[in-house]
Amino acid sequence: MKAIIIKILKKEPFKTISKTVDDLSVDSYLVGGYVRDFLLNKDEKKDIDIMVIGSAMELAKTLKKNLKGSKKIQFYKNFGTAMLEWQDFVIEIITARKESYNYDSRKPNVKIGTLKDDQNRRDFTINSLAIGISKKNFGELIDPFNGINDLKNKIIRTPLNPDKTYSDDPLRMFRAIRFSSQLNFDIESESFESIKKNINRVKIVSKERIVGELNKIILSKKPSIGFLNLEKSGLLELILPEINNLKGIEEFEGRTHKENFFHTLEVLDNISKVSEDLWLRWAALLHDVGKPLSKKFNSKTGWTFHGHEFIGSKMVYQIFKRLKLPLNNKMKYVQKLVLLSSRPIVISEDFITDSAVRRLIFDSGDLLEDLITLCEADITTKNPILFKNYHENFKIVRDKIKAIEEKDNLRNFQPPISGEEIMKTFNIGPSKEIGIIKEKLKEAIINGEIENEYESTFKLMKKLGETLGLKFNEK
Ligand code: ATP
Ligand code: MG
Repeated sequence: MKAIIIKILKKEPFKTISKTVDDLSVDSYLVGGYVRDFLLNKDEKKDIDIMVIGSAMELAKTLKKNLKGSKKIQFYKNFGTAMLEWQDFVIEIITARKESYNYDSRKPNVKIGTLKDDQNRRDFTINSLAIGISKKNFGELIDPFNGINDLKNKIIRTPLNPDKTYSDDPLRMFRAIRFSSQLNFDIESESFESIKKNINRVKIVSKERIVGELNKIILSKKPSIGFLNLEKSGLLELILPEINNLKGIEEFEGRTHKENFFHTLEVLDNISKVSEDLWLRWAALLHDVGKPLSKKFNSKTGWTFHGHEFIGSKMVYQIFKRLKLPLNNKMKYVQKLVLLSSRPIVISEDFITDSAVRRLIFDSGDLLEDLITLCEADITTKNPILFKNYHENFKIVRDKIKAIEEKDNLRNFQPPISGEEIMKTFNIGPSKEIGIIKEKLKEAIINGEIENEYESTFKLMKKLGETLGLKFNEK
């Protein structure tokens, strides 16, 4: 092991960092996620955490001189932290510290500390490992909490008392669950019990930090691991009650409906196999969120969720707003996918008509591919025959879309005739007739009654105007 570690430390930027700390005669360590992921044989990380028993400022300044081509240096207001960019590495340098907490804040009181103090204040044993980079203990792994063992056994455990660890900084509860999801690790049971006890401490964590962890869970390979832990701990109910409300099956007159919580997690896992896009994954998470509010029982048809897509798309806005997620085009994208999330399914179940496909292309525009991908991820039936059939139907939908698009040039549809031209043609100002004509032209194109091109649209416009009593302007 030591030989492999030394091999890494002989490479840049570690080589220069080591030389610099020796020149300054300070004791220094490679710590944090880089060490963890390196020991897990993951792809090399580009963010490097360096801890120094001494001044982080001084080390950062000298390192900037020694590391040729380093881009910029940034000093943080908070105690002894500096950041330096070199090539595509981000090097964070911190002074070893000892931390203590007040009950009403997750921002610690910080004092200069020893290596041991600094390892004690870290969140998990797997994040407390330190590798010596100065002469004194070059290449040595310092692992006071047996983090190596936890890495081997895939366990998340706090170095000190979990109750104190989570209560001091409740963000660590989300970090524990995030790491469980990213690494596919179990949270040690004592730790998990402690999270359950401390969930109300989430009050002192900012929305931005929670969302930061939530997004990392959503971006992990199998996000359901994280969401199941969020649910089991009680945190889900506090931060995303809308998803928590999807749990359960109701029965009435002997009839039940689909369990929507586990279904949603399956859809999220499915989409994560085919897309790395955070917002498409959010859409998968939220695609059925309107179901509890739209649920009705009808003796003839059983359980229905009519309009859940519309309700759901309204909820997307509320959720984004509450969590301080961006209320920009990302939110609109998720909203639109939720709103349209059943449309391709309806098409695929029916005889697939050209006009239904045209309408879908027209309504979804640039989102069409993502929408179909979402619908395919939505197939969670355990019946293998149905599973195969549904997927085949979507293949037909995809082929049909391609054929119609090639023929009709419909994506991001702009009618071949504008409102202005209608006004000119009939010599009228803005009026409701223009809206009526435009809508009818669009419908005629979608229904395949006319081609999506100028001549035939113009002809129909003329006819429509005349039936509305408008006078054709010969010019
Ligand atoms: P990643 O970069 O993949 O998110 P990481 O472990 O490097 O993982 P960072 O947030 O970059 O996580 O933090 C670096 C290190 O700082 C962690 O490994 C951990 O030792 C420590 N740390 C970060 N946040 C906390 C916290 N809230 N409480 C205690 N220690 C923390
Ligand atoms: Mg990191």
